Amino acid sequence: MVDVFCLPLGVFFLSFYCTGNLGEIHTKDDQFVRDLAYKQHAFNGFVSNQIGLFRDIPDTRHKVCQSKTYDKDLPTASIVMCFYNEHLTTLLRSVKTVLDRTPEEYLHEIILVDDFSTFTELSVDLSLKLAEINQLNKIKLVRNAKREGLIRARVIGARKATGDVLIFLDSHIETNKMWAEPLLHIIKHKRTTVAVPVIDMINPDTFGYTASPLVRGGFNWNLHFKWDDLPKGTLKDLASFAGPIKSPTMAGGLFAIDRLYFQEIGEYDLGMDIWGGENLEISFRVWQCGGSVEMFPCSRVGHIFRKRRPYSGLVDGTDTLQKNSVRLAHVWMGDYKKYFLENRNIPEDYDFGDISDRIALKEKLHCKDFGWYLKNVYPELRLPGESFTNPLAAKPIFQPWQTRKRDYTGSFIMRLSNTNLCASVIVPKIKGFWKRGSPIVLTTCANTSNQIWYETKRDEVVLDKLLCLEADWNNQPLLSKCHEMLGNQQWRYKRDDNQPILMYNVASGTCMNAEKAELGSTVVMDICNKKQTNHWDFVRVNG
Ligand code: UDP
Ligand code: MN
Repeated sequence: MVDVFCLPLGVFFLSFYCTGNLGEIHTKDDQFVRDLAYKQHAFNGFVSNQIGLFRDIPDTRHKVCQSKTYDKDLPTASIVMCFYNEHLTTLLRSVKTVLDRTPEEYLHEIILVDDFSTFTELSVDLSLKLAEINQLNKIKLVRNAKREGLIRARVIGARKATGDVLIFLDSHIETNKMWAEPLLHIIKHKRTTVAVPVIDMINPDTFGYTASPLVRGGFNWNLHFKWDDLPKGTLKDLASFAGPIKSPTMAGGLFAIDRLYFQEIGEYDLGMDIWGGENLEISFRVWQCGGSVEMFPCSRVGHIFRKRRPYSGLVDGTDTLQKNSVRLAHVWMGDYKKYFLENRNIPEDYDFGDISDRIALKEKLHCKDFGWYLKNVYPELRLPGESFTNPLAAKPIFQPWQTRKRDYTGSFIMRLSNTNLCASVIVPKIKGFWKRGSPIVLTTCANTSNQIWYETKRDEVVLDKLLCLEADWNNQPLLSKCHEMLGNQQWRYKRDDNQPILMYNVASGTCMNAEKAELGSTVVMDICNKKQTNHWDFVRVNG
């Protein structure tokens, strides 16, 4: 466990030069580690290394979960965790949290499937490190001889498993308190349940762990997964916060299923490559063939939501999400597939491979058709062009930044100490808007709108109340759309006395620094030290 701050927040600024800030970059080596991890993994591997193999995370469950009880004799779990070029410490922490937060009697094994990773740290180093944490002898490592993609890799892991229940997890997660019990309990009592935990958010810049709201899985006619608000009345009383909450689809990375039921229901479509679509495929299949997908909010697992997928989703130039989606549409959607195929302009002769074994499976299991699924499981989904009339239906969920209003606490210009130069945007405003991505440059202080920054309660710094100051991982501060997720848009600086101060970004671990104390000089992110060029005066203005 690493202390985030050396001193409590209130006196943070007095302690600026102490070394406890998670993610604070002190040397070029630190910076190298961080930047390489962003390139390879799209998250801050430097912070992940600092956290190490285990940390406390907040118990994000609703209070009703604390009094819930589960059977003493629960089925045993085989955890299946596939990985491809995962960040080593992050992968080890994923394994370690399962070991430490799953009761030993229920944890049958953890099957790690290396999907033919190429990073050297995942060969010998990984095996040695796993041996160190494998006192209980529950970890098994399988290495694929070629890249299979996550869908076949999961099936390879599942076929090696011998526990009662399979629990699939991504390789960049942290399981929370009593995460396994709710899932195992329901599967014991209703073996056709696909039981899904709530996926909490681990910020890719800071690794801050936050609770996710209760939402459920849906999709649109591009066959893209989306989160929907819960239908009205779902959370009718306190007890309902513990679920279960029926869900038309699931995000796909984390779920539990009875091992034999997984086989009976047809595992996954082995014709699907690399990534994508398999979550909708298994959701449609389970619902249509007699099972259910349900969320259990007393089970919480944190997942790093990366900024981008760090590997290619193409196989021989074909987008695997698209091809996998076409396959599932042809097998499971009946006539409704036309909406997807038209929406995405899929050509008539698009080659999606052979699906005859999946059609045969559907017949063998006497599965219901897609019309039944839409009517009974997802009545909220409108057909393209159809108006929205169902009063029971959920309204579409808005992301926080679409609904939340910003609370401003003050405004200032940022003057480089001992100069009359201010951090400014020089790319002109067009039709009332600043251009996203504009760099920050020193110009003569003039109290003009291109220099006036508004601070928010949440530590964002917003130019002209329009765009947020963001520390790009490329060591550049720039203007960006406010995303409300903090991290690279979260700043620390001393607010209310006249001492020069540093402008510290929580995600990058670095400070705003003028390349030179000269008119026109660019502002960059650099190591926080006592240089003249990273000391700023925050001059209040009335805004
Ligand atoms: N994965 C894999 N082989 C692949 C692609 C992904 O084993 O070809 C693993 C990956 O390391 C992760 C899991 O499958 O543990 C899910 O993939 P990812 O996290 O990239 O999906 P996302 O969470 O972005 O949807
Ligand atoms: Mn993932």
